[in-house]
Parts: sequence; structure tokens; C-alpha cells
Amino acid sequence: MRSESLSLSDLFKFDYFSCLRSDYAKNDCSVCIDLCPEDAMVFDRSRLTLDAKKCTGCAACVGGCPTEALSSELFDPNRFAVEFPGRSGNMISCKENIPCLGALSVEHLITIAIRSESEVVCDLFHCKECPVNSNTLVLKSIENAIIEAQDFLDAAGIKKRISAVTEVSQSETDIGRRGLLKKLAGIASEIGEERTLGETASRVDGRVPLKRVLLKNSLKTVSEDFEATALSGSPFSFVADKKIDAQTCTNCQECAMFCPTGALSLLQDNSGIIFQSGKCIACGICDDICRPGSIGTVAGIDLVDFAFDRMQLLVKHKLEICEECKVAFPYRGGEMLCDRCRDFRDNFSDIFTLAKDME
Ligand code: SF4
Ligand code: SF4
Ligand code: SF4
Repeated sequence: MRSESLSLSDLFKFDYFSCLRSDYAKNDCSVCIDLCPEDAMVFDRSRLTLDAKKCTGCAACVGGCPTEALSSELFDPNRFAVEFPGRSGNMISCKENIPCLGALSVEHLITIAIRSESEVVCDLFHCKECPVNSNTLVLKSIENAIIEAQDFLDAAGIKKRISAVTEVSQSETDIGRRGLLKKLAGIASEIGEERTLGETASRVDGRVPLKRVLLKNSLKTVSEDFEATALSGSPFSFVADKKIDAQTCTNCQECAMFCPTGALSLLQDNSGIIFQSGKCIACGICDDICRPGSIGTVAGIDLVDFAFDRMQLLVKHKLEICEECKVAFPYRGGEMLCDRCRDFRDNFSDIFTLAKDME
């Protein structure tokens, strides 16, 4: 497993190799930069850099990162998602138990809702006055995540609820931002070296974000209650179902090589591509990289495929050896020439003939 963990400040760590921009130079993910209220993050060419003087450690960017490349020293959203359902109270609040609700992704929210006995309530009462939400983007992002989490639960027929409140009484527990960070630091030191979550062992692949593993584990516990297994309608932001057009796919395999999570992989004999929606984070790298535009997204996902990491065969080619370059290629009838040699012959037929004559 690749890893290069760089400390960006006392509060944050950035795993360079987990960032989508490191996986594929043309990827334009900018979620963390867009969400940062302090403009503390910038990309210098493809490298993310953070101005530690500007960073306040609010963690608003952490939940938005699809790959968990960013992490906070004081707050572990995966640990929170596992432990919150066992605590007293059902409210997630920046005045009580979390630096900022932006630290939680849609996947965390669904996990928390599934594992909680009662409705989970997100306290957004303080967002309007909060400096972290100065450009309103953080609040919008949190609201969208809550809506999407509930939409996902509804589409699956899972009878759990997660909602937002924008009006609550200012409680005596308002300990302020510094106080809360101190409190979280205290909790972190109590936890000490114990960093392992129970679910870590079931991580299928080191590159699949842990929040995804937690979500799949949560879904498995309620799979008997699924009312619908085919989730159609609007796509979810954190997963995609894929298809490949066998007629145009050249079997170049670049989609599988660049897929950051291993959601796309090769058949053992290299004759086709397999897909697991349970590992897909909808980053779009495969769509961008496919030169003939053969790979695309299918609306909706199959919930059972997703939760149980079932494999789908997207394309299988009949491979033959090209008469010119002697490399295996997807054969669709006609001449025994791969696309590259056929294009070369069509565009440079004179050179092609000369090369043949010289043999
Ligand atoms: S949100 Fe995550 S993947 Fe996207 S640019 Fe920031 S660190 Fe990279
Ligand atoms: S889908 Fe596109 S990128 Fe993937 S193997 Fe086929 S041609 Fe190559
Ligand atoms: S299958 Fe495509 S969209 Fe999904 S994680 Fe892999 S590269 Fe990204």
C-alpha cells in the first residue's frame, strides 16, 4: 500500500498519495479548497499545500474528501460514526461532540443513522453565526449531506431517520470553540494509542476509504430489511454504477490501472474488466481517462452488489494476436490487426508497405 503522510499543521495530516489529484494529474477535485473558510489550502501544481497560520483546525474539509486524504489529529470521523450511536443523546452538535458537522461525510451520516436506535438530529443552529461558515458553503455542504443521507435511506427502504434542526435553545453546555477543541483533545489523549476500530480488519483493500467499509458493514446488518435493492433515480454523490461499451473498448486497461480504489480490476487472463460498486467513490477518473469514451455511468446502484462487494463483469473480449505488432487485442472479426496497427496502416499506408517489403 502506498503511503506518504505529510503533516500540514499540528492539526491536520494530508496523505499525498490518497488525494485524487495525485492519482491522476488531470483530476480537478477541489472539495477541500472550496470548503475551507480561511483559504488556508491551495494547490501548487498538483500538490496540496496548507498555510498552517491560516488553518483554524475546524475540520470542515475533512468530511468532504472522498478518499480520506485529509485527517484531523483531534477528531476521527470514523471513530465518531462507530461510537456515537452508543452514547446518550441523539444530537450531533458542534457545541457538544464534534468540531464541525462538516467533518462527517454522507457515508458517515448514513452509518450513524443505521446504527442509532432513534432519529439522529444534526444541530445546525449555530452555523449561521459561525466564522467557519463565513462563505455559507460549509452549511450548504452539511445540509446537502444530510438530505442525501436521508434520500439514500428512503430509497433503500431503511426505516431510519436523520434530520437537521436550525432552532434549538442555547444550552448551558455551550463551551465555545476553544473549549470544545480542548475537550476533544482530552478525549483523544484518553483514547491514547488505541487507534484500531473493530471494522478495520474487514477493510477489503487499503485504498477503499474506511468510511465506505463502515457503511457497507452497517448496510449488511439491515440487509434483510431492504425494501428495494435497485436504487434508481438521482445519482448519489459518493458512488456510481459503471458500464463499458464492448464495441468501442480497446482493452487498453487504463481505467482499471488508474482507478484509485480498485473498484475496476482486470480478469485474470486480462481479457476484460470487472467492477465493484462497493469500492467506487464516483471520482470520474475512469470516464476522463478512457480515450474512446467507452466507459460510462449507469443511473442508480444495486444495493446488494454495493453492500456485499459483488463483482460485475463489465466487458469481456475475445483476444487474438495482432499480425503486425504481435500483441493481444480485442478481436471483433475481420483482419487480425489491432486498432493501433489498423490506424497506422490507414494513415501511413506507404510506410506500412515499405516496412512489409523490408521484412
Ligand atoms: S478533497 Fe481530498 S481528494 Fe479532493 S483535492 Fe482535497 S485532498 Fe485531494
Ligand atoms: S473502458 Fe476505456 S479505458 Fe477501460 S479498457 Fe476500455 S478503452 Fe480502455
Ligand atoms: S470506477 Fe471510476 S468512478 Fe469509480 S472509483 Fe474507479 S475510477 Fe473512480
